[in-house]
Amino acid sequence: MHTIDNYDFNGKKVIMRVDFNVPLNDKFEVTDDTRIRAAIPSINRILEKGGATILMSHLGRPKEGPENKYSLNHVVPRFSVLLGKPVKFADDCIGEKTLEIKKSLKPGEVLLLENLRFHKEEEKGDERFSEKLAEGADVYVNDAFGTAHRAHASTTIVAKFFPNDSMFGYLIKSELESMDKVLHQSEKPFTAVMGGAKVSDKILIIENLLEKVDNLIIGGGMTYTFIRAQGGKTGISICEEDKLDLALNLINKAKTKGVKLLLPVDNVAADQFDNNATTRVTKSDEIPEGWMGLDIGPETIKLFSGIIEQSKTILWNGPMGVFEMENFQNGTVSIAKAIARVTTEGAFSLVGGGDSVAAVNKYDLSDKVSYVSTGGGAMLEYMEGKELPGIKAIRG
Ligand code: AMP
Repeated sequence: MHTIDNYDFNGKKVIMRVDFNVPLNDKFEVTDDTRIRAAIPSINRILEKGGATILMSHLGRPKEGPENKYSLNHVVPRFSVLLGKPVKFADDCIGEKTLEIKKSLKPGEVLLLENLRFHKEEEKGDERFSEKLAEGADVYVNDAFGTAHRAHASTTIVAKFFPNDSMFGYLIKSELESMDKVLHQSEKPFTAVMGGAKVSDKILIIENLLEKVDNLIIGGGMTYTFIRAQGGKTGISICEEDKLDLALNLINKAKTKGVKLLLPVDNVAADQFDNNATTRVTKSDEIPEGWMGLDIGPETIKLFSGIIEQSKTILWNGPMGVFEMENFQNGTVSIAKAIARVTTEGAFSLVGGGDSVAAVNKYDLSDKVSYVSTGGGAMLEYMEGKELPGIKAIRG
């Protein structure tokens, strides 16, 4: 893999794509600095090896040119404290003035460029704009995994201008290693746990995983499309009527591939979509009219936990129920704990995709699983087997 590990940065100027898209409060202070912290190991490596770093990122979704509320200048104070050294700032990511600052940068110095998305050319992947970003730099490092599925100027096109000097930072490196381990070198049995609201969002990933897994566990809202497709009664549970054929197809595909597909056998049904709703445990295919399944039931928890605990590789994407509501979080907590338990016994577990990440964080289990992906959409696309433009630009 092309990474910053084996590169001699001495005297080099490094243009590095980071993800500093952090939340700001109304005083423009950073309220969650996780993403800034995550970039620091790569930055330090370059500085320690005698390089200078020029950092570029987007922040928010500016519509028409520069807007103060999306200025990366707001990030400088926090970034400087975390890095433990001063940070220079250029109030445009391209242009003569910025090029002058880039040229004057000395080894060990850090420059942050203004929001890339103040220029429309960034998201268009404009080549001339990419060339301007590249000017004054000797090396390109990409360490922003969350945007690696976009062919933007700073994430993909800019790499063209560094044909022999493009590489991944530590964040992308560890994301790729974890995902490749699951997709290409999984120790068996390999179990995928899929949840969340809709099957339509997860079709491609399920199809790709059917080629690789031993067990496919389905929970969450998408359960009911599968149950209904097989003729079960699902009441007013969330169900995608137009995806019934697709669900049957996936069930058949699993059979032909020899994959064990497990659906919930029971669930916690509620008479309304409310934490204080009246609830009862029913079989998953016998939900009464007017009731909806909002969590997996106790028999299902036992069944799924048993499979997870016999696995050596686990991929988890999507909650088992409406875990945001206290009374419907038990299934998600129990599955998270089973994954944590089997990880301490030596299994490899990868948790990814928005809401399962939120769940492991909520239950304080993020350091008890092997890897928590921050990739969101990029992670899902990689798991679908797609080639991400930002990865291809460097890996070839
Ligand atoms: P996704 O973004 O597709 O992973 O879906 C996550 C969302 O699915 C969460 O907000 C959950 O509340 C929701 N969800 C999980 N199980 C159910 C269910 N049984 N009924 C309705 N929504 C659900």
